Amino acid sequence: MNKPNRKQDALNYHSKGRPGKIQVVPTKPTNSQRDLTMAYSPGVAEPCLAIAENTEDVYKYTAKGNLVAVISNGTAVLGLGNIGPEASKPVMEGKGLLFKIYADIDVFDLELNTRNVDEFVNIVKALEPTFGGINLEDISAPTCFEIERRLKAEMNIPVMHDDQHGTAIISGAALMNACEIQKKKLDKIKMVVNGAGAAAVSCSKIYLSLGVKKENLVMFDINGLLTEDRTDLDEMRMQFATKRKDIKDLKGALKDADVFIGLSAGNVVTPEMLKGMAKNPIVFAMANPNPEIAYDIAVEARPDMIMATGRSDFPNQVNNVLGFPFIFRGALDVRATAINEEMKLAATKAIAELAKKPVPEAVNLAYGARNLKFGKDYIIPKPMDQRLITEVSSAVAKAAIESGVARKIITDWDAYNEELRS
Ligand code: NAP
Ligand code: MG
Repeated sequence: MNKPNRKQDALNYHSKGRPGKIQVVPTKPTNSQRDLTMAYSPGVAEPCLAIAENTEDVYKYTAKGNLVAVISNGTAVLGLGNIGPEASKPVMEGKGLLFKIYADIDVFDLELNTRNVDEFVNIVKALEPTFGGINLEDISAPTCFEIERRLKAEMNIPVMHDDQHGTAIISGAALMNACEIQKKKLDKIKMVVNGAGAAAVSCSKIYLSLGVKKENLVMFDINGLLTEDRTDLDEMRMQFATKRKDIKDLKGALKDADVFIGLSAGNVVTPEMLKGMAKNPIVFAMANPNPEIAYDIAVEARPDMIMATGRSDFPNQVNNVLGFPFIFRGALDVRATAINEEMKLAATKAIAELAKKPVPEAVNLAYGARNLKFGKDYIIPKPMDQRLITEVSSAVAKAAIESGVARKIITDWDAYNEELRS
């Protein structure tokens, strides 16, 4: 298929029939006049009064407990940049579609026409009665950090900025497994992170939680190495600044490094840089749509490496859809008040573990693969793997209960898993 066709196909896909990708569907009988008097006045007054008496009953009588808001202001959309709230709507509807098909979660996508942090925070805070959870999406750094921090502190429902934490969770799982295959220890690896934006900062934080040592991690932004004597770094970046004086550039940093993490821009890494890395290196080149180094070039330079990218046309795609539907599913099902570090780590470990289990034939078939098996070209599960919902959601729900943020306790896990499968 050539390029112009692909463009037209994508436009047709979105405009054909009812424009857009999602719609609202009633869940109760509406066939008779009696049904309608229940759905609306006068019947509806009963649940209203019950909720007025006990606010928690909003979960019992309304859609709140299964409703997530996907909220953006369109300032950092995919790799397209600051294209504005209207232009971000196809992405947010798409995210709603993924929530629905993977985890049966309903989504209202909300595109906000503001770049002001206070205004953004006030609007989202006021939405708390409507939603069971908030997925922040495609908001540019550094405002995304403050927006998420404030909303997490001020709201009593789960809030997650998926561009930060989704990528961290999935790539964290991939890193655990890549280290296992390459026989490297997380607390020993030397890591180079290229990029110091929203994704790089939150990924690096989870890598530290998984055992990577801060002194073994160096980070670059577009101006070079993050060092303690730089005066242009905000607090977020400063925590990854190094004392080291012996590194001049990316090539020098990669000398004898075990892991390269790319969350920057396409084609900024050369084969020579990879050739300087340690034996059996791990290269996650995740810039989209073009990775920091093209897959074929990288493999040729380092046949002993494990590579992951953000793309579906190469092995080991770091794809956020492995995480967010199931993380929110688990959080909603125990009515968690937050998505905390414990829940994120539980998701990371569940995803990593799943990749080590034998792959069902249905997954092979869905990807036209013959024999997917834990190894260099399969370090994380595939999105169509039906086991993700049971493995990841229940791990997240358990972590929520154990860390004390659950308002509803699950005791019969077999029954819960059965429910998730249906
Ligand atoms: P961001 O907040 O805009 O951050 C980009 C960072 O890269 C900035 O720190 C920027 O430096 C730095 N940078 C740009 N060009 C560079 C270069 N040539 N050398 C070194 N650093 C450079 O964006 P983001 O949300 O973190 O995303 C970064 C990239 O990762 C994007 O390509 C995105 O598509 C990709 N990504 C992939 C996945 C995935 O695969 N699942 C998930 C998330 C993001 P300055 O700070 O100096 O401007
Ligand atoms: Mg995004």
